[in-house]
Amino acid sequence: MEFQAETKQLLDIVTHSLYTDKEVFLRELISNASDACEKLRHVQSATTTKFVDNDRPLEIQIELDEVASSLTIRDTGIGMTSEDIVSNLGTIARSGSKQFMKTVQEQQQANAAKGIIGKFGVGFYSAFMVADSVTVTSKTAIIDHENDNNNNVTMWTSDGTGTYELAEIDENSTATRYDIGTTVTLFLKEEYWGLLAEKKIKEVLQKYSNFVSFPIYVNGERVNTVEAVWARPPHEVERDTYVEFYKYIANAIDDPLEILHFRADAPLEVRSLLFIPSFHSEKYGMERMEPGVSLYSRKVLIEHKSPDILPDWLRFVKGVVDSEDLPLSISREKPQDSALIGKLRKALTRRFLSTLEKMAKKEPEKYVEEFYREYSHFLKEGICHDYEFQPTLAKLLRFETNKNTTRELVSLDTYVGNLRPEQDSIYYLTAPSREAAAMSPYLEAFDRANIEVIFVYTAIDDFVMANVGTYEGRPLVSVEKNKDDDKDEETDDKKDDKQEEMALSATEAIDVCMWMKKTLGDGKVVSCRPSSRLVSSPAIVTDNESGMMRRMMRMVDNSDG
Ligand code: ADP
Ligand code: MG
Repeated sequence: MEFQAETKQLLDIVTHSLYTDKEVFLRELISNASDACEKLRHVQSATTTKFVDNDRPLEIQIELDEVASSLTIRDTGIGMTSEDIVSNLGTIARSGSKQFMKTVQEQQQANAAKGIIGKFGVGFYSAFMVADSVTVTSKTAIIDHENDNNNNVTMWTSDGTGTYELAEIDENSTATRYDIGTTVTLFLKEEYWGLLAEKKIKEVLQKYSNFVSFPIYVNGERVNTVEAVWARPPHEVERDTYVEFYKYIANAIDDPLEILHFRADAPLEVRSLLFIPSFHSEKYGMERMEPGVSLYSRKVLIEHKSPDILPDWLRFVKGVVDSEDLPLSISREKPQDSALIGKLRKALTRRFLSTLEKMAKKEPEKYVEEFYREYSHFLKEGICHDYEFQPTLAKLLRFETNKNTTRELVSLDTYVGNLRPEQDSIYYLTAPSREAAAMSPYLEAFDRANIEVIFVYTAIDDFVMANVGTYEGRPLVSVEKNKDDDKDEETDDKKDDKQEEMALSATEAIDVCMWMKKTLGDGKVVSCRPSSRLVSSPAIVTDNESGMMRRMMRMVDNSDG
């Protein structure tokens, strides 16, 4: 028989240009086999129709035959009649599965068929990317009393160009017994003979189809041993199950620091299972991590390590996001609607950050010691890249200050809570180390006035503070900043000290200033003036516009690199 006219044209597109990864043919055929099993399970439970044989386990078998250079996928699912085959495999873009879903929904049995994957009606043809010819043998599970076709087996064969052959076998007239279900055999093109290696096939299965609900066997051995834990209700899942799943998907050896299993309803219904590992690998000069969360739809992989589902600064998070209603491109290699994915990313990020806030509140020690000390860098990256989340991220920051000699870390909230009555700014000092910060001449006046000053130790922190700008309406101010230093934050007792501090007379001071300006030159100093801010240091450089740049330069000079 001939393929329908449009099918002929589209076949060429499917086999030559639709998919970037040729190995997805296996994902497509496994998805079809899984759909067939799902359908049989559904009709068995939902209707009173009689079935020929309904006690065989629903499963998928893959056989590799090196001699025939063929790969066979066999399922014990619902099977197809010859009419089903002609309409589903003879016509491209006709999805029997979509039709099935529709019928089921019309009968208001939607829940039972949620697991059906197929809907575009093109996936099957991806077999022709790797095969010279494909044979499908199928026997339906549904008894048709009127036509009495229950012993009929249909064989479909094609090379994926213009035509296909159809043969009907009456089981009664042959010695061979056929099982209910569908067998798809691919005679591989020579360049794909590598797929006949068991190891290779298992790899491909583990990548795309590892969480398919029905057991998959390769040459008799079960491949998909890890279940799709994310799809289960959180209260039913034991910690050990989560840990095992984490180790599997993250290829990890540690126990996760935190597990987040939740469902989000907007803008799409998604189930996600995210993990914070106990450590990250982006230190000691190790390379930048790839994103760690993969996108699934109905348990089938859509995008491995998706760069879009979480912001880049959350690349240390591992896990799975699955949505049944994800609008997919026809190749199923990408979500189709990037604006929608953007919204989803925001919803997931918000959810993730609220988990951190909860941890910070309920388990502050764990938050600081286990999470913050390991991952603060990523939060800071977020502050600089993601304005939308800046306020939340700023809340999550922790600092050393001149007051907490125990090196305990404080939040900006705590800092603000301890403000002196007359203080309206949040002060910070950038220095290479705590020791250097404590000895800094910039700190003297603040120490004397008993004002808390946050210590930050890296150039990035300096950026972060500048980026945050204000917290709860209070400006974040570098203590190196040139301000009206003799007026601000000055207490009365400090004024009294002033007289004795002034070792120079006013005219002498002006002389010194003039000499300094002249000696350093106009390019180096904008102004030079006497101050009572210093106690034991003779002079300091204060900030002008280029202050942050200068501090960064100093950091770079001080660091080993
Ligand atoms: P989709 O899965 O998106 O519907 P496909 O091109 O993969 O599109 O498959 C087309 C149709 O062929 C399916 O919808 C289904 O009705 C039928 N089909 C394919 N493989 C099988 C199978 N193993 N068992 C039963 N029906 C199948
Ligand atoms: Mg399909």
